[in-house]
Amino acid sequence: MIIVLKPNISRTQERDVLREIRKLGYTPHVMRGVARVVIGAIGDERTHQSLETLTTWPQVESVMPVQKRFKLVSREAHPQDSTVEVGKNVVIGGRKLHIMAGPCSVESEQQLMTAAAAVKKAGATILRGGAFKPRTSPYEFQGLGEKGLKLLAKARRETGLPVITELLSQSHAELVAEYADILQIGTRNAQNFQLLIAAAKTGKPVLLKRGMSMRIEEWLLAGEYVLANENPNLMFCERGIRTFETYTRNTLDLSAVPIIKREAHSPVVVDPSQGAGRADLVAAMCRGAVAMGADALLIEVHPKPAEAWSDGAQQLTLDGFAKLMDDLKPFIAAAGRE
Ligand code: PEP
Ligand code: MN
Repeated sequence: MIIVLKPNISRTQERDVLREIRKLGYTPHVMRGVARVVIGAIGDERTHQSLETLTTWPQVESVMPVQKRFKLVSREAHPQDSTVEVGKNVVIGGRKLHIMAGPCSVESEQQLMTAAAAVKKAGATILRGGAFKPRTSPYEFQGLGEKGLKLLAKARRETGLPVITELLSQSHAELVAEYADILQIGTRNAQNFQLLIAAAKTGKPVLLKRGMSMRIEEWLLAGEYVLANENPNLMFCERGIRTFETYTRNTLDLSAVPIIKREAHSPVVVDPSQGAGRADLVAAMCRGAVAMGADALLIEVHPKPAEAWSDGAQQLTLDGFAKLMDDLKPFIAAAGRE
């Protein structure tokens, strides 16, 4: 920590600050300038009480951290890219760009099996589908629950695709982890820390969506909960943030991709479906995400989007998805990915 003292304070006031720094277990290094004194306090904040309370002292002007607040997520802790293994054959964060695709919600056996077979044929490597749905209104479809999880497991048996599905509640952690290959933490729960801990403790890979009003630092710190609970298999997923714009459901913040890549070592996924909320924008958002360096895309695909029980406006048709997969090929190659 760097502690900047106010100008024209007495030596006694300065000594009091130094004594407090030592008392809290840090070693102070004093830098005496012309007008004021700056103190570097050396010590590990994880094992000692924070020095931030010094900001309330009248002789202290400011207290600034030198290190990042997110330690394990940071590139300082792990300079190389980390990769996440999903199921037996999928590695996210390597050269191959992975496509996670499937319906917003699991609605029926026929709907899911049709979508699963089609996305697999078109080249998706992971199947998505919500069994527990976080809906704004309690009167909207809440998901099929365990029945939906069983259908996802059946689709995995039939297609060989590993499955990603949302974990909504701590009380479902064991149940969902039993069926899922990746636990998705949704935007509405991105700072539900007890849920993040429960997800981490299952040992399954965790895909952490960005909260719709979350700053990137808050998102990185939420990811820190997963790593701090001894689960290294974390992925960040940008899914758009809430802004004043009404042309789109959310504003997909593609700048988050290179920022997370610079700050953190975990793979980054982009969800253009929630991101724009419009099927007609999904292809352009995917091209952008690939160019920004995303490691995977999470795309909603439905056999009949017009009849979908959730998020109909943003889901691609099966043909639309197949065309997207074809059209993306040169962009994936141009980004140096497979
Ligand atoms: C979803 O993926 O269907 C979903 C509900 O995502 P988000 O939490 O990003 O809104
Ligand atoms: Mn959705």
